[in-house]
Amino acid sequence: MKVIGLIGGMSWNSTLEYYRLINEIIAARLGGLHSARIVLYSLDFEEIESTQRESRWDDASSILAEAGKALKQAGADFLLICTNTMHKVADAVKKSSGLPVLHIADAAGNAIREQSLARVGLLGTKFVMEEHFYRDRLKKHYDIDVIVPKEDERAIVHRTIYDELCLGNIRQASRQACLKIVKRLKERGAEGIILGCTELPLLIRPGDVQIPLFDTTRLHAEAAAELALGK
Ligand code: GLU
Repeated sequence: MKVIGLIGGMSWNSTLEYYRLINEIIAARLGGLHSARIVLYSLDFEEIESTQRESRWDDASSILAEAGKALKQAGADFLLICTNTMHKVADAVKKSSGLPVLHIADAAGNAIREQSLARVGLLGTKFVMEEHFYRDRLKKHYDIDVIVPKEDERAIVHRTIYDELCLGNIRQASRQACLKIVKRLKERGAEGIILGCTELPLLIRPGDVQIPLFDTTRLHAEAAAELALGK
C-alpha cells in the first residue's frame, strides 16, 4: 500500500474527516485490521488564512511547498492538499516536492462526469467561487459548466466557512441560509452542487437537497484510498 501524504490543518476540522474517511475506506476494502499508511503535516490555519486575506499567495505557496517536501522525506508516495482553496498553489507544491498531487477538482470532475451532468453549482470560499484555478480546470478537463451564487450569497458562504465551520461551529441558521442559496442555484439550472470547501459537508448533508451533492472531502479521500491501493 502506498503512503499518503496529507497537507492538512486548513482547517483541522476537515482534516479529521479526511483521516477518518481514508481509514474507513481502506478498512472496508482490505478487511481485518487494515488501516491507511498516512503521514500528516498539519499547518497552523491562522497563518494560512492571513496569507489568503492579504493576498500573499507566494508566502502561502512556500509554506505548503515546505510541507510537501517534508512529507516526501517522511516517506509519502503522493500528496493530498486537504482544502479546495489551497489548490491555488498546487502546482508549486508538486514542483517543489517532486511528488504527484492528487487534485481535488479532478476528484469532483470525475464524479460529475460519471453522473453525466453538464452544469453544476459551486459553493466554497470566495477564492474558489470567484477565481479561475478551480472552475477553469472543471471546464477544460471535464467540460463542466460551473455557476456560482450571486455576490451577496457568496459573501454568506465565505463568512460561514471562516467564522463558523473552520472553528467547528455548525449552526442551523447558516445551514438554512446555504440551502436557500443551493435552491437558487438549482433554479438557475444547476443539476448538481459541488461542496467545494472541505468543511461544507459538516453543514450540508445529501438528504438536505434534491439534486446530487458532490462532497469534495469524501471524493478526494476516496480517490486517495484508491490510489494508495494501486487502483
Ligand atoms: N477548507 C476550505 C476549503 O476547502 C477552506 C479553508 C481554506 O481556506 O483552505 O477551501
